[in-house]
Amino acid sequence: MLFRQLFDADSSTYSYLLADDGQAVLIDPVKDRLDDYLRLLHELGLQLHLALDSHTHADHITALGELRAATGCRSGFGRESGSACASFTFAEGDHLAFGARELIAWYTPGHTDDSYCFLLPAESGQPAKLFTGDTLLIRGSGRTDFQNGDARAQWASLQRLLALPGATEVWPGHDYRGWTRSSIAEEAAHNPRLQVADAEAYAALMANLKLPSPRLMDIAVPANRACGQAPLGS
Ligand code: FE
Repeated sequence: MLFRQLFDADSSTYSYLLADDGQAVLIDPVKDRLDDYLRLLHELGLQLHLALDSHTHADHITALGELRAATGCRSGFGRESGSACASFTFAEGDHLAFGARELIAWYTPGHTDDSYCFLLPAESGQPAKLFTGDTLLIRGSGRTDFQNGDARAQWASLQRLLALPGATEVWPGHDYRGWTRSSIAEEAAHNPRLQVADAEAYAALMANLKLPSPRLMDIAVPANRACGQAPLGS
């Protein structure tokens, strides 16, 4: 199986390319990087089968619509996203196949009410990979103060992730320091957001972060509901 972590420096977003038997999946692709994705798919001889967003992003514009137009791939959002332009929506427990492999959609609300993680199960001695979107970040977690975010719901989602085997690899949707990967065991031990006692303590911690609004939020959220293809500002 082919696996690449791709980076958009403008939004510190990680996107992921996975492929098996020539069939590729892109997770959280960024519209500004469209040409890079198309070139890489061509160079590696891959057919893009699926493009998936882990949630409706507030900090960058999705490439899902453009990728579907350019490659004929199927574009998928979580059922809760309200996107009218997806080829399909996925829900808790859905299996998303590519080649002989599949991702399993885990509904993990909290950062937004349409947040999902994608689990690539362990195979032939390789640990499982968990694509955590903005639910679990390296030594952090996605903010819960807009887009129907809910710190208590995120606490419950994080507990679910922590029940995975410790060796499960964590591949986040962003990192602002350039850290690329972690594991469930590493985050359980060292992520300060996971050291609090219960959902109430977690909600209090998240309420005190006082973060600025994302620079692109007013543009990106409506554009992403249209798969990145709506006129900006509409
Ligand atoms: Fe986000």
